[in-house]
Amino acid sequence: VNTIELRGIKKIYKIGGEELAALAGIDLDIHKGEFAALMGPSGSGKSTLMNILGCLDRPTCGSYKLDGEEVAGLSDDALAVTRNKKIGFVFQNFNLLSRITALENVALPLVYAGVGRNERLERAQHFLEAVGLGDRGDHQPNELSGGQRQRVAIARALVNDPHIIMADEPTGNLDTKSTKEIMEIFEHMHEMGRTIILVTHEPEIAACASRQLLVRDGRITRDEGKGVVMDVV
Ligand code: ADP
Ligand code: ADP
Repeated sequence: VNTIELRGIKKIYKIGGEELAALAGIDLDIHKGEFAALMGPSGSGKSTLMNILGCLDRPTCGSYKLDGEEVAGLSDDALAVTRNKKIGFVFQNFNLLSRITALENVALPLVYAGVGRNERLERAQHFLEAVGLGDRGDHQPNELSGGQRQRVAIARALVNDPHIIMADEPTGNLDTKSTKEIMEIFEHMHEMGRTIILVTHEPEIAACASRQLLVRDGRITRDEGKGVVMDVV
């Protein structure tokens, strides 16, 4: 079952009179439960692709089916509904709110989802425990280490129970030990059947994924996984 199907996806930016194809025609299927790493040099189009996959932005043309639903042409509001239901995000800089506690940070997506306070805190506590921080809920982000902050961010990404997790350089600001802990959590999420798409510059991180995709000049030029190597271009 494909959870993600991209066909002929282009993203064209007009800068002055010039057109720049940040994405120059992407065809990509990602199966439910797949763990895919996205690699490629700076400026190759990874962020643009992640923004489209994550329903944060729309392509200039092409088709994007998410669980069979065409989302490329949805309005901003409809896109936001789909995004909040289906996708959890993890960022390089954690993106936690600094003036509220770890538990409140984790519970935040449930506020937007309209879940009542008691259930919010209960579910947030459950996911904090799942990432090994059950006893840190009342700490503010600045009282936690980088690795702990990223675990809080992962708990927040999971609290709505999305079946897709998207992560942009999630270990980019972490030391070796925390990186290992975070990648173990990603591997665990994969084992639990979630679909994971992760951008990384580091081959050792990409090797944790079941599939490695290389982006160059707005195209996927290499697709490697499950023992199969395919040079697309
Ligand atoms: P990566 O994430 O791989 O570094 P990006 O997706 O950020 O690559 O960028 C791909 C190309 O698109 C780059 O040439 C970048 O300058 C350009 N680009 C990205 N976003 C915009 C934008 N909002 N307006 C114009 N050009 C953009
Ligand atoms: P990243 O570090 O994730 O690759 P960038 O530094 O490429 O991000 O881009 C940061 C922001 O600037 C993004 O919102 C991107 O869309 C925008 N951007 C990138 N390149 C350009 C550009 N050439 N013109 C206008 N906006 C751009």
